[in-house]
Amino acid sequence: MNLLKTDFAIIGDTDTLTSDFPMDTGEAGMEILADEMVFETPYGQSPVFRLFALDDRQVITCRLQGGALVSDQSEEIRQAFWVLREVGVKRIIAPGCVRGINPLLEAGDIIIPEDYINLPPRSHVFLEGNARLIMEQALCPELRDELVESGRETGEGRIFSRGIYAVNSASPGESPAELSLLKGHADITGHRLCPEVYLARQLGACYAGVYLVAGGSRAVDTSLLNAVVIAAVRNLAAVGNCDCKAIAKEMQRDIYTPGEM
Ligand SMILES: [Zn+2]
Repeated sequence: MNLLKTDFAIIGDTDTLTSDFPMDTGEAGMEILADEMVFETPYGQSPVFRLFALDDRQVITCRLQGGALVSDQSEEIRQAFWVLREVGVKRIIAPGCVRGINPLLEAGDIIIPEDYINLPPRSHVFLEGNARLIMEQALCPELRDELVESGRETGEGRIFSRGIYAVNSASPGESPAELSLLKGHADITGHRLCPEVYLARQLGACYAGVYLVAGGSRAVDTSLLNAVVIAAVRNLAAVGNCDCKAIAKEMQRDIYTPGEM
């Protein structure tokens, strides 16, 4: 095992990933390489990571706290992305559960949004160092295409290839009036995606989310969602033909370095 050969990450939460993930998906070609990995970061002890092999590739995964917690989750997210940067992860897929705003969506649908609205956050979260982030095309089109393709290959459920995610990390739950305010502007809402997408860009990694529309307070079956994620990681190249890396380089050029003219 060499952690530095880990190109892929799956960052979910306790709502979507079971403690047995990914072995509970029953997919072939998987093996747990390391488990219960905790890292010391400048922001405190990281959440628990698991490393697994999927065919010839290495994937790191962790379960962040799920649900609409009242406590601020930003430190946990920062610790997790610090680890992903140290490991050198290039492609990050984030499965999650959301509430549907668009009336065409039904519980059990899967949606891969292409954009987001970050409603006023609790706090701004970045890793140390200068960062001028360009958030154009922040959700990697190549990762998104692969997630759509993998979803359609399963032949189950409805897969939506676009949509807008309203990120509501400041409030534990949307009121009916808040939901109707978002109608026409966003298709889904949840507590994920930001600040994760900013941190992924700071890393220069590709990032895309794939979300299951939950139905009220009923328990959700995330098996299809997790199967889509595994299929996408299996099919993706470690280095893509997308612009994510070029945009990261562009950002580096823009950062003022002391001593330079
Ligand atoms: Zn990309």
